[in-house]
Amino acid sequence: MAGQRVSNSGKKSSALRDAAALTTQLAAGLEKIGLAMKSRTWRREGRAGLGPLQRQVLTLLRSKPGQRATVSAVANELVVRLPTASEVIATLERKQLVRRRRDVSDGRIVVAQLTAKGNRSCTPSSRMPDRLVTATEALSASEQVALLKSLVKVIRSLQEQGEISVARMCVSCRNFQPNKHDNADRPHHCESLNVPLGDRSLRLDCHVYEPAPAVQVNEAWGSYTGSRTA
Ligand code: SF4
Repeated sequence: MAGQRVSNSGKKSSALRDAAALTTQLAAGLEKIGLAMKSRTWRREGRAGLGPLQRQVLTLLRSKPGQRATVSAVANELVVRLPTASEVIATLERKQLVRRRRDVSDGRIVVAQLTAKGNRSCTPSSRMPDRLVTATEALSASEQVALLKSLVKVIRSLQEQGEISVARMCVSCRNFQPNKHDNADRPHHCESLNVPLGDRSLRLDCHVYEPAPAVQVNEAWGSYTGSRTA
């Protein structure tokens, strides 16, 4: 009996070790993707076209009323320092994708607004880094859905840790209604677009996202994570 207990606890600690090793590997994998995005090739493409942070600024502005936001709001939402946000916005202005103005009510505040050219340059089809699209195309359809669902969870955890301030994703949107439909392929619903959503169509960066109150987010999260993969 005592031997049985020892063997059970031995199995449990070995399973814990395996789980810890796996999470370490996953974190290392995510870190490598982050490093790749800072690579020389990527930076070169960024100079010719749009770098990751430039794309994020444009997408953020596109989601705002009037497609405008103060430079400090941009820095705050993307969790970057104010000088970094100012520098990226100045670069985007040189590319004529953004224009800067002093706020009429307070001249100390600088507002960045998307230009028509900026709006065109950050439509969903034009703003994805080709290399990431190519890399995810190497996955099967079910692996892509599993990865999307995992990314939603990782992003939410990073948000809870204060590393991402705003993620315009379905699970934290006031328009998201998880498991509303009795349809295994498309169980969720978007009230704003009035369309059913499957796990494969959940958005991580939606330009019509509206933040939900904390209570709604927690309820939606519970329902979503309890749901089956569609
Ligand atoms: S598609 Fe956009 S608006 Fe609809 S639930 Fe998702 S984030 Fe919200």
